[in-house]
Amino acid sequence: MVLDLGVVMDLMHNWSKMLPTVQPFYAVKCNPNPSLLGTLAALGSNFDCASKSEIETVLSLGVSPDRIIYANPCKSVSHINYAASVGVNVTTFDSKEEVEKIRKWHPKCQLILRIKPPQDSGARNSLGLKYGALLEEVPMLLQAAHDADLTVIGVSFHIGSGGADAKAYHGAIATAKSVFKMASKLDMQKMHVLDIGGGFSSGTEFGVAAVHVNDALEASFGNEEGITGG
Ligand SMILES: *Cc1c(COP(=O)(O)O)cnc(C)c1O
Repeated sequence: MVLDLGVVMDLMHNWSKMLPTVQPFYAVKCNPNPSLLGTLAALGSNFDCASKSEIETVLSLGVSPDRIIYANPCKSVSHINYAASVGVNVTTFDSKEEVEKIRKWHPKCQLILRIKPPQDSGARNSLGLKYGALLEEVPMLLQAAHDADLTVIGVSFHIGSGGADAKAYHGAIATAKSVFKMASKLDMQKMHVLDIGGGFSSGTEFGVAAVHVNDALEASFGNEEGITGG
């Protein structure tokens, strides 16, 4: 197998051209090759880690912990303790049980509420179906986080990897916006992070997906400032 890091540089360049308002968080589970991760780190990518070992790998490259999101809505206590000990302070959740664990073991952690996107995008690997809160659960989950003195800084979703229909970004981003609105109605701190998950392929499909993402961001968040995408 040959790994051409020049291609990685071109892909990162293409990302910033096509998705200028979205900061990449590379999902380490896709390929944890250290040369690849090191190149991405040098080019300014952030990282999406699902476990303690993925966090360890990224930190060992000299990446600062504030460039890591611990994007696993169902974490074991020992991994939460590890994240707390190294200063990885952002994680996702989709249940009350997870809020309780974070409150107890990592109270400095900021939360991102993972929601289920509204439609099945026909993806091979539909991560959206496995994880994510339903819209009707959102007020209860926001309240649980609030009661635990934890701040929910934003919303995440995943439309599914591998051949997902890029039109699904429209429904998912609009639903995320409705969660931002619910939080402000409940008088909670203004949300400022929208994690659009993944589902991108290389080649022309990326261009098509980028157009859908940009259109959907404009439609739902166009007039808002300071939203950090991921
Ligand atoms: C796997 C994963 C990603 C990346 O998904 P791709 O479709 O491979 O781009 C992003 N976020 C989370 C939470 C994931 O689990």
